[in-house]
Amino acid sequence: MKRILTGIQPSGNLTLGNYVGAIKQMLKLQEEANKESFVFIADLHAITVYQNPQELKKNIRDLLLIYLACGLDPKKNVIYLQSDIEFIPAVSWILECNTGYGELQRMTQFKDKSKKAEAVTSGLLTYPVLMAADILAVDSDFVPVGADQKQHVELARNIAQNFNKKYGEIFKIPQPQITDTGTKIKDLQDASKKMSKSSKETKGVIYLLEEENSVRKKIMSAKTDSGSEIIFDEKNKPEISNLLNIYSSLTNLSVKDLETKYKGSTYAQFKKDLCEVVVSALNVIKIMYEEFSKSDDILKILEENKAKVNAIVKAKYDKMRQFVGLK
Ligand code: ATP
Ligand code: MG
Repeated sequence: MKRILTGIQPSGNLTLGNYVGAIKQMLKLQEEANKESFVFIADLHAITVYQNPQELKKNIRDLLLIYLACGLDPKKNVIYLQSDIEFIPAVSWILECNTGYGELQRMTQFKDKSKKAEAVTSGLLTYPVLMAADILAVDSDFVPVGADQKQHVELARNIAQNFNKKYGEIFKIPQPQITDTGTKIKDLQDASKKMSKSSKETKGVIYLLEEENSVRKKIMSAKTDSGSEIIFDEKNKPEISNLLNIYSSLTNLSVKDLETKYKGSTYAQFKKDLCEVVVSALNVIKIMYEEFSKSDDILKILEENKAKVNAIVKAKYDKMRQFVGLK
């Protein structure tokens, strides 16, 4: 049995990037035999950047609803809230004491987010270690993430390898699992940026629960490269390539299929079709979201899994204490 672990931060409304990079992979994995999927709501990660407490509470519930609305089955996945797992911060602390400061400063996300954040917290710097704790404490074999998080999973591997060498075999070495195409969905107004739920500029971000007309407007006004050919070329035509990635990831057409389909067509026609593809994918999610919203005991799911995950993490923490000499 292989264990899979993945999480999303309740740091705002989920985007198409989160769907393509993370949720779609989870949907596929839940159908595979001999896999046990742990899916969590990364609330401790979210507070590395200030979150309004009321909004955070709402976002946590919303993220659970979105997981369910997208089709994650609570019977096939262990869905839990990160901050319910009491020993995760303790595991993280021991790992932090075994991780180089310089290594954390070099993380791309730290550099990006600290440039944008009004206040750069120490948590923003140590966040990848907390992520390593999430991964290593439950003996994850695979970590499905978007391409933007690959570096952090690699760091978790390094931390595990070094720890094992220093103190003895305790951690499994996890592997990042990126979508087949390694897709990173970019902002529709600026292909040099990834689409992010915490972006202040929202014109280039498509949210999963966004109103239909607004989605259409954003796609039709998406920036496109000069020229008129619809071909995939991330280096020279990053904007149209991004739209091709979005289209392909929501249909069973490959990027190659799409290039053939739109040979000789115009950007406008391509965008119009893309609107239909995106709108219909989002409609399904919206309908299910409304359905699940009616239930008032939805948070019970998190309660039910709390004990199971706590027991696993506590056992790992105890073992770490022994190995390190704390116990
Ligand atoms: P934030 O801006 O708060 O960091 P985010 O949109 O980056 O939010 P996360 O909660 O950090 O979302 O990441 C959740 C998952 O979604 C991760 O697996 C991440 O790799 C994936 N992901 C996020 N953005 C994208 C994107 N633009 N393309 C593909 N995958 C993405
Ligand atoms: Mg992120």
